[in-house]
Amino acid sequence: MMCPVRCFTCGKVVADKYYEYREDLERAKELGKEADAGKTMDRFGFDRYCCRRMLLSQEDLVDEIIHYPRF
Ligand SMILES: [Zn+2]
Repeated sequence: MMCPVRCFTCGKVVADKYYEYREDLERAKELGKEADAGKTMDRFGFDRYCCRRMLLSQEDLVDEIIHYPRF
């Protein structure tokens, strides 16, 4: 599903950095480096653990759910 726009706990906007965060981790994997999610979140300014869990726990399920039509 889509990333929530704001952190559920503190209200900080997280969705604007979500795709940059994912791209950064994928870029690190492509270069053969070990993707460090913690450092990436630090770089994007997510200091609080409530905001960090928003990014860490997010899973893109749209491609899987789209196979099941609505009734
Ligand atoms: Zn937060």
